[in-house]
Amino acid sequence: LATAVPERELPARRAAAMGGGLSPLFYRRPLELVRGEGTWLYARDGRRYLDAYNNVAVVGHAHPAVTRAAGRQLGELNTHSRYLHGGIVSLAERILATMPPELDTCLFTTSGTEANELAWRLATEYTGGDAAIIAEHAYHGSSKWMADLSSNEWPPGHRPPHVGTFAAPRDSVTTPTFSAEGLRPALVLADSQFTSEGILDVPAGFLAGLVESAHAAGALYLADEVQSGYGRSGPQLWRFGLAGITPDLVTLGKPMGAGYPIGAVVTRREIADVLAGRYEYFSTFAATPAAAAAGHAVLDVLELTGLPTRAVEVGAHLRRGLRALDSPVLGEVRGTGLLAGIDVLPAGDVPSREVARSLLEALVERGVLAGLTGPGGDVLKVRPPLVWETGHADEFVARLGEVVRA
Ligand code: PMP
Repeated sequence: LATAVPERELPARRAAAMGGGLSPLFYRRPLELVRGEGTWLYARDGRRYLDAYNNVAVVGHAHPAVTRAAGRQLGELNTHSRYLHGGIVSLAERILATMPPELDTCLFTTSGTEANELAWRLATEYTGGDAAIIAEHAYHGSSKWMADLSSNEWPPGHRPPHVGTFAAPRDSVTTPTFSAEGLRPALVLADSQFTSEGILDVPAGFLAGLVESAHAAGALYLADEVQSGYGRSGPQLWRFGLAGITPDLVTLGKPMGAGYPIGAVVTRREIADVLAGRYEYFSTFAATPAAAAAGHAVLDVLELTGLPTRAVEVGAHLRRGLRALDSPVLGEVRGTGLLAGIDVLPAGDVPSREVARSLLEALVERGVLAGLTGPGGDVLKVRPPLVWETGHADEFVARLGEVVRA
């Protein structure tokens, strides 16, 4: 088989053929996963891992409804997106039905990056501005422009000239202030849960203040729901919904096709029309029939099984368990629904980043896959498939308890 690579050759052959340090892997001993089911991942050596990290598999790994729908469509027809197709149109309608009524236009893309890139293009055309305002330590994608709009990724000393920043607060400050001097902002954008910024619970009213400040500066406001959306924070599906705001643009991605690439920009028709007056927008793989079939299947499962409602309960249970751990290396616990961040603290002379890294590796040794986030890389990130039940949360807390005691 062309796909079979002996286990011991895999790391070196990957590094040689695939750019080595440019695309690092997770964990000290990178995992070779061969199968997933629900919230369980299986490695080549037969070990089973509790998945506390993967949000793409929002309805659980290898969900039969998704694989059947996408597989059936692949077996019938999968084309580029310049033909009429009922499944694609009805997916757009279905997504719009979950949004505030002002947002009446759904433009499909293939990734979160492409969605943010298109939103950026719409905003510059609509406003005439040429600058963006982002949070400190934000991540919005991997294209050249989105790398500029990802302050988390900037090399030391680097700041693109067309980008201003604001601090996402951890305290009671509710009025955002931009460093936008000399800029003509077209777009203010933020992940609605500030995930890369450390999974922050910004004060109530902060997102509303951000929308207001964006409009006062002549810019549009974009809610980036690529990580925080799709039911993770509850049955309203979108994290911005809990803040009671109506963004001008919303971007979707990651879980949208449960691994089949598809993303979207949702906006108002008048904004899309300005771009349409001068250009057309087409992206070959943006909502192919198979991607749309996967997208429908994800929404079917979320609606029929009530996973978003359960995410609220299981998430609260998880945070209660985490807070009860009472360890000198664990600090504040934050998050909404099934997205939780736990501050890791220094231990004696050992800096928090190193403590966090060793906790993460020790969790892997005990069969639990989590992640790290935040500006200091010292926030333990729990963002599992929404199929988690309280028992899975208990298992996570138990393993973390063992690890911090060790
Ligand atoms: N926005 C946010 C908030 C993200 O977390 C990510 C991916 N981590 C992206 C955009 C980019 O999405 P993609 O990797 O699908 O291009």
